[in-house]
Amino acid sequence: MQNIAKVKHGCGMPVPRGYDPELLYVECGNCGAPIMWGEGRATHILAQAGIDPLELDASCLLVTDACPLCTNRRQYSVQIFRVSCETPLRFGTA
Ligand SMILES: [Zn+2]
Repeated sequence: MQNIAKVKHGCGMPVPRGYDPELLYVECGNCGAPIMWGEGRATHILAQAGIDPLELDASCLLVTDACPLCTNRRQYSVQIFRVSCETPLRFGTA
């Protein structure tokens, strides 16, 4: 989780409610690789994980426990982090 601490930019910033999940930065928490999901995939994964896009904003990022580069699993658990606060908001398996 070192990478997350580096982009910390302070709590308390006003953030708009609701965000397009496709615009979120996704990173593998296992190997650190940025993950490029195909179009619509992030929306689908968030829905499967029970995460409401209305809880997202531009300061959120998604961290998976694995990615296609470091595992051949087809399922990853996904956590949402808000970079300004470093606490997982919601998590689920997708
Ligand atoms: Zn990985």
